[in-house]
Amino acid sequence: MTFSFTATVLGSPRIGPNRELKKAVESYWAGRLDAEALDALARDLRRQTWTSLRDAGLDSVPVNTFSYYDHVLDTAAMLGALPDRVAGIESDLDRYFAAARGNDTVAPLEMTKWFDTNYHYLVPEISPTTTFALDPSKVLRELEEARALDIPARPVVVGPVTFLLLSKAVGSDAPLLDRLDELVPLYADLLGRLADAGADWVQIDEPALVADRTPEEIAAAKRAYDRLSALESRPAILLASYFGSLGDALPAIASTGVEGIAIDLVAGSDTLATVPDLTRKHVVAGVVDGRNIWRTDLDAALASLGTLLGSTGSLAVSTSCSLLHVPYTLDAETGLDKALRSWLAFGTEKVREVVTLGTALTSGRESVEDEFALARAAASTRSTDRRLHDATVRARLDALTASDPGRSPAAERREAQSALSLPVLPTTTIGSYPQTTQIRVARAARRKGEIDESEYLNRMRAEVADVVALQEKLDLDVLVHGEPERNDMVQYFAEQLDGFFATDNGWVQSYGSRCVRPPILYGDVRRSNPMTVEWITYAQSLTQRPVKGMLTGPVTILAWSFVRDDQPLADSANQVALAIRDETVDLQGAGIRIVQVDEPALRELLPLRAADQPAYLDWSVGAFRLATSGVSDSTQIHTHLCYSEFGEVIEAIARLDADVTSIEAARSHMEVLDDLNAVGFDLGVGPGVYDIHSPRVPGVEEIAASLREALKAVPVERLWVNPDCGLKTRGPAEVEASLRNLVDAAKLVRAEL
Ligand code: GLN
Ligand code: ZN
Repeated sequence: MTFSFTATVLGSPRIGPNRELKKAVESYWAGRLDAEALDALARDLRRQTWTSLRDAGLDSVPVNTFSYYDHVLDTAAMLGALPDRVAGIESDLDRYFAAARGNDTVAPLEMTKWFDTNYHYLVPEISPTTTFALDPSKVLRELEEARALDIPARPVVVGPVTFLLLSKAVGSDAPLLDRLDELVPLYADLLGRLADAGADWVQIDEPALVADRTPEEIAAAKRAYDRLSALESRPAILLASYFGSLGDALPAIASTGVEGIAIDLVAGSDTLATVPDLTRKHVVAGVVDGRNIWRTDLDAALASLGTLLGSTGSLAVSTSCSLLHVPYTLDAETGLDKALRSWLAFGTEKVREVVTLGTALTSGRESVEDEFALARAAASTRSTDRRLHDATVRARLDALTASDPGRSPAAERREAQSALSLPVLPTTTIGSYPQTTQIRVARAARRKGEIDESEYLNRMRAEVADVVALQEKLDLDVLVHGEPERNDMVQYFAEQLDGFFATDNGWVQSYGSRCVRPPILYGDVRRSNPMTVEWITYAQSLTQRPVKGMLTGPVTILAWSFVRDDQPLADSANQVALAIRDETVDLQGAGIRIVQVDEPALRELLPLRAADQPAYLDWSVGAFRLATSGVSDSTQIHTHLCYSEFGEVIEAIARLDADVTSIEAARSHMEVLDDLNAVGFDLGVGPGVYDIHSPRVPGVEEIAASLREALKAVPVERLWVNPDCGLKTRGPAEVEASLRNLVDAAKLVRAEL
């Protein structure tokens, strides 16, 4: 067989250690940087990434994992599958960015979550007229650059099965996988070109094989890899799976002629010993978690590598998936205490773990015994640290989960809430108002120390007062404070809760140039002080109308954080729920009569395999209910969800039992209401009547038409009127105009009743 490497990663972060790529790409969009300068910066970042991976000791380095925006979009470009509507744009780069972000005349591709991560990819659109054609220029160029630097380069591409399964069919209902035969020759061509360019190995990513797949889909994948592996001139193929188990797809893939298979041993639980064909394969064992930030238990990882030795042809150590999902390095963090730091591993530290394990595997552990000792010491302090074992929190949670009767039946609550005296078709918004220039200026000034905390708070209070005054002027029924004080709906709470650490520099790519800093949930969660009460009561003091308290729910807080791996996610969720519950009770005590607990991420954490979904939905619904059942019947609980096609979670939404659910619907023409009816949902619902993702101002008649449509599915007593998400990304003028039309539309339809 071709030389088999021993230590690698499946991919690396690409935004730059200091978000250089983000800044450069945004400057290019703004016309402040030209294409040549952007290209030079990108090349430099790639060089830094590869050389540091090689110098750290990896003997196979992934290339072509760089991207200006998204690797699925790169794949679409490589396969000639960008949408027709951008075809007229001459520059390759601008065509690519137009597909990603749209421009004045073309709409962008849709964006959606990359499996169960927080990374979003662009969904390629494939129509019957799409003619695939190979453009290997990007991958060939990056391979050539890397080889010129003497990097042991392994080009990485998204595989044809995953590409088709993640794409959206337009203009036809036929399954896209039917088009696999059109793609296989292109990949064959690509493999030949890569071999000619000197690649020994190619990594073909097929993460779609870790989700539930039909026997036909698995058979189609097998056929494709039978054909590709039968080629004469090609690099050795590493078929990479990640984010779960291959299950039935594993023996099928192993029976093809691919030389290597990457298996996720962190998220997955495949038993390799039962797959005889693996004794002829190079197995790339993902034992270092590529998605979370904990230091690896090297003893355990080495032991599990040891058990694989007998059942595989050869073995390499790797991360479980690309390091795209973790920050670059711990070195950039200053605020970590010594213990917490010792428990963590970001990108650079994970590469080191891979190398340590590779060394231990190939030449014995003596030379790396120090690293093992450090990992062991960290595991030991982590398991005994008091912050991870707060007896009071645990006792309280146990008592409550055993005894909490939940809320009264919905009808009783409705009765108790009639004191709110709301009109029919009450109007409201989802929480945030535009993050104005004043807000950003104030935040920056505070960070630089130009203004003190009290001046900052004064300015934020002025924003709240403006937002309340605007809502009164517009005649909305249920008001919000506008969330000016929140940088982010999860980080804001993480910063105030014990058990969370907010990083200084732990950026990860969310999509395109957008990066997020997920907080680290490392300990038992405790709320030492009220987190939102002052803001909400201040807003309430300015108006007679009810102001909604605004909280983020436990599932969303977990979904957008790095979470503990030393206890079930359900336990962490309940701890967060307890803190949120305390906040709802305090809000109620302060005279707030409506509290919204947002769960936009409820669907995101849904396990990829159907068999795992019911258990997830049970604990996630349970955590939400724990968070919202501490208040009395007269306090109205709202929730907000950010998507309109729920599939598996629709029943769970009903089980949340929130008095009012606002939900994205504008883009799916109110279909969500039928879905909710189908599961017996009979609570308040506010299907978003206009799409906040676009700057367009919806007309009164248009909104009224949506409401009339909604009234066909929902009795008038249950229907609310609201936009489909928060307004923080919009401009003040369009928000005012849109909300004015929203209120007018509600009045118009009320008059028709
Ligand atoms: N209350 C939040 C806001 O309005 C909800 C955001 C969201 O749904 N992602 O911004
Ligand atoms: Zn939303």
